[in-house]
Amino acid sequence: MTSPTKQNLSNAQWYARAKAVIPGGVNSPVRAWNGVGGTPAFLVSGRGATVTDAEGNEYLDYVMSWGPLILGHSHPALVAAATEAVMKGSSFGAPTPGEVELAEMVCASVPGVACFRAVSSGTEATMTAIRLARGYTGKSKLIKFIGHYHGHSDALLVSAGSGIATLGLPDSPGVTPGAAQDTLVVEWNNPQALKSVVAQYKNELAAIIYEPVACNMGCVPAIDGFHELIRSLATDAGALVIVDEVMTGFRLGKGGAVARFGLDADIVTFGKVIGGGYPLAGLGGRTDVMAYLAPTGPVYQAGTLSGNPVAVAAGLTQLKLLDDEVYTRLEALAQRLCDGLSAVFTEAGIPVQTPRVGSMFCLYFSDKPVQTMADANGADHARFGRFFHAMHDHGINLPPSGYEAWFVSSAHMEEDIDRTIEAAKVVSTVALTATL
Ligand SMILES: *Cc1c(COP(=O)(O)O)cnc(C)c1O
Repeated sequence: MTSPTKQNLSNAQWYARAKAVIPGGVNSPVRAWNGVGGTPAFLVSGRGATVTDAEGNEYLDYVMSWGPLILGHSHPALVAAATEAVMKGSSFGAPTPGEVELAEMVCASVPGVACFRAVSSGTEATMTAIRLARGYTGKSKLIKFIGHYHGHSDALLVSAGSGIATLGLPDSPGVTPGAAQDTLVVEWNNPQALKSVVAQYKNELAAIIYEPVACNMGCVPAIDGFHELIRSLATDAGALVIVDEVMTGFRLGKGGAVARFGLDADIVTFGKVIGGGYPLAGLGGRTDVMAYLAPTGPVYQAGTLSGNPVAVAAGLTQLKLLDDEVYTRLEALAQRLCDGLSAVFTEAGIPVQTPRVGSMFCLYFSDKPVQTMADANGADHARFGRFFHAMHDHGINLPPSGYEAWFVSSAHMEEDIDRTIEAAKVVSTVALTATL
């Protein structure tokens, strides 16, 4: 058998081969580096906080598979758990003890979650959550916020029209107006806009879905009182609140954002960290709501690989290793990095924002705090692209877009953080004479 690493192809050669047989050469668009330009690195291995590309270059990684790898790449305990599971059988399509343990772990960790259904991706989790909310309430309309990402199912791949609050428009060819019309799109952190849309569609509203920290537009926490406003408006309208914790779940603490901010969610969706880097996601909530799912209830949902034993073994092992000590350390690392980067760019006279919640954060080249998608769009994304490439040349792998959150793992060391800040310093000094 030929191992891909033995072929000694460059990243560019792999990319050329990939583009011939895979749309755009990638299996998820952000991997094509369109946000920053250039040839994406093809990765062949990861260990701890570092990844290695096809050319043998090593990078300190802040993507971490977009969040799942909270304990780092190839954590020995997860490798052992997955290996042991796969030796016993990769999939049964029947109930397994591991799924029970996983559900018990989620219910014990997350306030308000009494019942949990496992699926294979975050997209599936949110898609099921909105179907469940519609089935439970008997209503159709859904509110989502501009810049919040909930996966790529039709009803959620919807963008705003010209107004601040409006009926949704398909955000992609192939999403029909019919699929989009029941989704109302509202500006994040805009209480007035939310109030007026809820007032207008009160009788038809099934659910409000949101990211408790908007991390698919960088890192944009809710303004004071916004969580509470969502909850009270939904309750008044007889609608459910779906807190999409695919990114924040088990990242902002064992109880996720729900515990951290004291939220009262009807349905919580999970993904990323819960699977430890394997295809595993899920949704949980109140027993009466969750009982609406088949086979107890009328709302249909199913999956050949749902609760896959290998993914569950790895995910459960990761969740068991997460304790307060891990979260405290992750948060300290993230803060050290945000403070360091902020100081470096301020010193260089380059305006920067480094918003952070727990160990999730990002960097906007912007002179004002980011509260909405319009603010995020206003950051200097061309400068971010140059920063990304300069850092990559220093062996540091940042998210390839100024709209993405950065992640640290427990495998990141203080020296790694300091090395990153040093690299940024070098880069920012070059910047004064060049183009950053
Ligand atoms: C990543 C993400 C999703 C989609 O999850 P996939 O596993 O990529 O389908 C949904 N919601 C949020 C908040 C996410 O960050």
